Amino acid sequence: MINQLLIKPKPQLKPIDKAGAVDLLILGGGPAGLTAAIYALRARLKVMLVEKMILGGQASTTFQIENYPGFPEGLSGMELASRLQEQVKKLDLPITWGKVSSIAKKNNHYEVVVDGKIITTSAIIVATGTTTAKLGVPGEEELLGRGVSYCATCDGPFYKEKNVMVVGGGNSAIEEAIFLTRFAAKVMVVHRRDQLRADKILAERAQNNPKIFFYWHSVVKEIKGQNKVEAVTLEDLANKNQLTVPIDGIFMYVGSQPNTDCLNKLVKLNRQGFIITDAAMKTNVKGIFAAGDVRVKTLRQIVTAAADGAIAAESARQYLEAKDAPPKKGKPLP
Ligand code: NAP
Repeated sequence: MINQLLIKPKPQLKPIDKAGAVDLLILGGGPAGLTAAIYALRARLKVMLVEKMILGGQASTTFQIENYPGFPEGLSGMELASRLQEQVKKLDLPITWGKVSSIAKKNNHYEVVVDGKIITTSAIIVATGTTTAKLGVPGEEELLGRGVSYCATCDGPFYKEKNVMVVGGGNSAIEEAIFLTRFAAKVMVVHRRDQLRADKILAERAQNNPKIFFYWHSVVKEIKGQNKVEAVTLEDLANKNQLTVPIDGIFMYVGSQPNTDCLNKLVKLNRQGFIITDAAMKTNVKGIFAAGDVRVKTLRQIVTAAADGAIAAESARQYLEAKDAPPKKGKPLP
């Protein structure tokens, strides 16, 4: 059960102030956005954070975080989210709940539309994260919520003593496959190669778990069922043989897509749609910074998201200071 305090309340937690004008608008309330907010508030900037659903981001749906420094026993995603929320509450962070639909540059500021309301800001940190990718096979959309899921932490307890399948070989797939063994009788992992992408420590744990079975170099072709998931058709990529496997539920973890639609190509993206930044989290557009999973980077982790957030806030502070500084007096012309 998700802590109600962390979810979009009705009405807004804090209304936009009269002028609706801030120094820095942070888009996204995951570890990157919340860390940026902590640093910016401590620098006494006039900050506002926009979040559409839940403070804590995707990390809050992780059952157990084992690689966050300083927590040798690990901590749950919900606990980390609660602690972050407590920290920003202490600093009195104004939050606008809603979805950003557009960002436009106007002279020396930006206008950001959130659920039809305009917020004016001098700088922006985009920390909108990613959304779990869809597999795009027949039955996936039709049986969503009836055996097709993208969140084992949310739906795992419904599969007590049932047979479930996990698609993907990355950290998310393997972490969640291990989590599902708490409930399910059997967890089948389908991966398109014969080697997992997940960290070695997780891969070893899964391979040694007696409840986890692997379908290597295989892909899901179809998810079948009348009113709920009943079976899947798998294809072995080596010999193209197809196989029908009866299952009760299927969990998809085939990567993620960046949430950059609202930017409307205002900043430079790579081919996959992730925001290109430099080491100071600056995008190619002055006054717009990016942090966390939404930007091009090699390691998408909570700890690197938090680090990005801190750097982005500091860069934004420097940008705002330089912007407000009186112009330097040059030598008089001869
Ligand atoms: P990911 O690392 O991109 O892995 C996606 C997996 O899905 C890969 O194994 C990929 O296969 C497979 N895949 C992609 N498209 C597919 C398709 N169409 N059909 C079948 N399989 C497909 O994504 P993720 O696991 O969601 O992780 C996202 C990021 O968050 C990563 O950087 C990850 O390290 C990080 N993360 C870290 C942790 C942790 O440290 N504990 C936990 C969760 C996530 P290939 O391997 O063949 O490409």
